[in-house]
Amino acid sequence: MKYIIVTGGVMSGLGKGITSSSIGRILKSKGCRVTAIKIDPYINIDAGTMNPFQHGEVFVLEDGGEVDLDLGNYERFLDTELSSEHNITTGKVYRTVIEKERRGDYLGGTVQIIPHITNEIKERIRDVAERSGAEICLIEIGGTVGDIESMPFLEAARQMQREEAAGDFALVHVTLVPTDTQGEQKTKPTQHSVKELRELGLYPNIIVTRCASTLSLAVKEKIALFCDVPTNAIISAYDVDDVYHVPLIFEQEGLSDYIAQRFGLEERNDQSGWRRLVEQMKEIEKSGKKVDIAVVGKYINLRDAYTSIRESLKHAGIAYGCKTNIEWIDSGGLKSAPAVMRALERFDGILVPGGFGERGTDGKIAAIEYARENDVPFLGLCLGMQLAVVEFARNVLGFADANSSEFGKTAHPVIDLLPEQHNVTDMGGSMRLGNYEAVLTENSLAHRLYGSTRIVERHRHRYEVNPAYIDQFESKGMIFSGKNKNRMEIVEIPSHRFFIGCQFHPEFRSRPDNPAPLFRGFVEAAGGARLIQRKD
Ligand code: GLN
Repeated sequence: MKYIIVTGGVMSGLGKGITSSSIGRILKSKGCRVTAIKIDPYINIDAGTMNPFQHGEVFVLEDGGEVDLDLGNYERFLDTELSSEHNITTGKVYRTVIEKERRGDYLGGTVQIIPHITNEIKERIRDVAERSGAEICLIEIGGTVGDIESMPFLEAARQMQREEAAGDFALVHVTLVPTDTQGEQKTKPTQHSVKELRELGLYPNIIVTRCASTLSLAVKEKIALFCDVPTNAIISAYDVDDVYHVPLIFEQEGLSDYIAQRFGLEERNDQSGWRRLVEQMKEIEKSGKKVDIAVVGKYINLRDAYTSIRESLKHAGIAYGCKTNIEWIDSGGLKSAPAVMRALERFDGILVPGGFGERGTDGKIAAIEYARENDVPFLGLCLGMQLAVVEFARNVLGFADANSSEFGKTAHPVIDLLPEQHNVTDMGGSMRLGNYEAVLTENSLAHRLYGSTRIVERHRHRYEVNPAYIDQFESKGMIFSGKNKNRMEIVEIPSHRFFIGCQFHPEFRSRPDNPAPLFRGFVEAAGGARLIQRKD
């Protein structure tokens, strides 16, 4: 097994996740089997309890693991499916060590960070890597070198550095090279950051620098000299229009050759699939073709809260040959019919994403009503689907007080817990997470989009469409075209141009070259809508 550990310095938000994913992508294109692990040095066991406002999207894996959004990048760039063990947190590590201590596994010894915690970290990494069947495992250590939280992980990395053969181990350090007012590229932050890393006994083999434009040879040589890294292992990760360009830049900067040489990999390199994708994106950009999509949510100030939705819309656009221009509309502002009209009338499609809690739901319902009444293509995801059902119950079935029982008591709980869930007191335990199957109705829109009557998608929800109301909905034109026994998985309005909602999250399985079917259908309908409505 070969290990590539990725650390970050200078400041957070430099794109370690995209760097790791892109390295994975270029190695995959060399024909290697690659897997990835994300280390999050927080004490939470997983990201399930974390607020997207603070931490960005909670990504859901097939086994139901609720993890950091970087795992989503790995899945998209590597076109792979990971399990929750691929996200290691301080909480998980300490929990295991404490459980072992209580069981007496340490035979009365004093349990310490070194070696007990660090051993647990290394064991987990090696175990996950070996079991994945990969040849190369990328490990991204979250946070910035110097943070107290990440110290045990960096110490574990130091130990791995001495335990693994040089040809099986590489440390990649991601830093920043800012440009000063004279236009000069400054290497001092990188030098300081590498110094800090070396104080911990870690010696980078490759330095990836975030910068505005390619580093000059002189700057690379300077970094090489001060940081003791070969010049051809200094990689400029300069600003690009889209994250999908990064693997090609790394390739062009010689990163792939450098790793191949260090690891003794065969000379086989085929980026052609990825290159085609990037070329398609550039052509679309040039053509100026676009659709305007409104995403009506409550976490709109933090773009990372909807990363997978943004990516899925992008994938669908690439397949359809247009750019998806996304605007994030705060549902809190949609307070009156004129306000809704003003905010939404310029869009070709309206998407209402998932979420928890009542805040902002009135605005989302107003947006859904607008989409339904005006025949604007609509896609509702999870809470977005539930609110489409509530909207229909209120405005078509005439149950003015219809609501989800997530938001309190109501005479018409059209979204509710199923009877068997009522007695579950542990809210965390009652969440339906990960892969579940849905059976689709023949010839429904969902069936046409998926091209199959059996699908598997990822879930993260607790409430369900209340089966007691199904007949009333169906008699008025809202049908449930995807089901898992008494759970409604997909809802649609066949008389509408494109109105569909799903209880699952298709955005977690969309790939750059293989968009999620519901997103693809939605973007195509929005593109059609644009042609029909505006003739441009
Ligand atoms: N809050 C809703 C539920 O628990 C929807 C969840 C979601 O959108 N992910 O069912």
